[in-house]
Amino acid sequence: MIRHECGYEAPVFCRRCGRPLEYAERRGIYCPNCGRQVTMICPKCGKRW
Ligand SMILES: [Zn+2]
Ligand SMILES: [Zn+2]
Repeated sequence: MIRHECGYEAPVFCRRCGRPLEYAERRGIYCPNCGRQVTMICPKCGKRW
């Protein structure tokens, strides 16, 4: 599960390796397994995650 600053939580998985993604304030959303960076829009508040 990754959690946005607005409180929205969602289970998001890496498209490359299928592992659950993690969120860090500086890095954004990333995969701890393969290092892939992901940019997405929060479906709740519409801001960049
Ligand atoms: Zn990955
Ligand atoms: Zn949000």
